[in-house]
Amino acid sequence: MFSEEQTAGRKVEPVTRQSVAKRMYEAAKQQPNLIGWFKDGVTGLIKCALGKQDYTDVEIQQNRDVCRGCEHSTKNEKGDLTNKSQCMAPDPEKGGAPCGCIIMCKTQVGKCPLNKWTHLTINRDKPENNEVEI
Ligand code: SF4
Repeated sequence: MFSEEQTAGRKVEPVTRQSVAKRMYEAAKQQPNLIGWFKDGVTGLIKCALGKQDYTDVEIQQNRDVCRGCEHSTKNEKGDLTNKSQCMAPDPEKGGAPCGCIIMCKTQVGKCPLNKWTHLTINRDKPENNEVEI
């Protein structure tokens, strides 16, 4: 079993290949549309592996900085994001099931399920009437 501890109010546990698989499994069990969730996840991972970017390098760092301070990201024992960190936020588009995405890829080719990257997503989703409250 993986030991968990609270550090500065954030949930941390050793980030291992097994812990990533375990959280993926937990997220998968709760998906209302398992095939769609799996397809989206694999598509994102492939795009990421191929080096595709929906954001600039600076924006990717800004996205990761938001994830770094987010209570839904998994971190290592030191409380840092790693290439195995996942977003476990309840995704409103998936009936509140945990996201489960790998943050390294998500911040590059995905979007935050809770719209915490508002400064970016607000500019990427074309507003219907060209008016955006800021
Ligand atoms: S993608 Fe959004 S909800 Fe998920 S860890 Fe990052 S900031 Fe938090």
